[in-house]
Amino acid sequence: MKTTHTEPSRRDLLKGMGCGIATLMLSTALAANPSLVEASSGVVNEKAWGLLVDLTRCTGCQSCALACKDANDRPHPKRTPIALDTDAYSFVDERRIENPVGQVESVYVKRQCMHCLHPACVSACTVGALRKTAEGPVVYDAEKCIGCRYCQYACPFGVPTYEWENPLGLIHKCQMCTSRLDEDESPACVAACPNGALRFGPRQQLLAQARAQIASNSGRYVEHIYGEHEVGGTSVLYLSPVPFSALGFPALGEDPNPRYAEAVMRQTPAIALTVASVVTALHLFMQRRQQVKGEATLHIATQKPGAEL
Ligand code: SF4
Ligand code: SF4
Ligand code: SF4
Repeated sequence: MKTTHTEPSRRDLLKGMGCGIATLMLSTALAANPSLVEASSGVVNEKAWGLLVDLTRCTGCQSCALACKDANDRPHPKRTPIALDTDAYSFVDERRIENPVGQVESVYVKRQCMHCLHPACVSACTVGALRKTAEGPVVYDAEKCIGCRYCQYACPFGVPTYEWENPLGLIHKCQMCTSRLDEDESPACVAACPNGALRFGPRQQLLAQARAQIASNSGRYVEHIYGEHEVGGTSVLYLSPVPFSALGFPALGEDPNPRYAEAVMRQTPAIALTVASVVTALHLFMQRRQQVKGEATLHIATQKPGAEL
């Protein structure tokens, strides 16, 4: 008896892959249509608020981090945070640095959201849960958030944190104390700093002041205002006594990261559909091979002398 089926060939596989390629072409065409992907790189307003952190003035007293917890009603209000997490939107990182004469000194670095001028988190968020306001803060709307965590992947500073224990999976980060700003108050961290290490004001003014401080304090600061140009500029700016690379600041170019985030987001449907198509094609191929093997086995069994059906 001759079997009516043949072993699945490369042709079968290519046929299945053809569906994948067709889907890829369709999805790429869809992805290329900018109207389908919101280029949400935020509002860039150079007159907007900014925050200047002068690391030469910070003593690591933690007043800012604890005030931040209090202002944001975070748990464990007296516990000093050691990282950004859902309980802490800011923390003070101690960095041990060797000075030119070989002594090791601490440099304290307050960290929080940088409130980028072109926020990658905003561009990556497909549902508009993150938004750059004209006033400067990058704000979050928990009502819109679907917990996809794209913002976490996109942020070049590792800022957004995810509430794993919450089934709704919310994101947490500093929002520049917008409710306090609405009341004409400065952010809680700025108000709490006893050493003048934090200054709040229009970003452009802060930049001008930072440049003047560098120019008039020879040797006190490195000639670099972190956040002036990084990823297209950030609302939070830093002055430092040592190179920023020694303090763990990422070396980032001047291109706004959202270009990358948007590119990724544009490709996301294409990649997802392609992977799905290829997996489907392979699945069909394997299924067909199993079927043919089963039929071949049955065919051999029926050929055996004395074989019972
Ligand atoms: S630092 Fe990260 S979370 Fe903050 S605005 Fe920039 S991309 Fe968004
Ligand atoms: S601006 Fe407000 S939320 Fe952001 S670090 Fe300062 S106190 Fe915390
Ligand atoms: S309150 Fe001021 S001095 Fe104290 S840790 Fe914060 S930034 Fe530094």
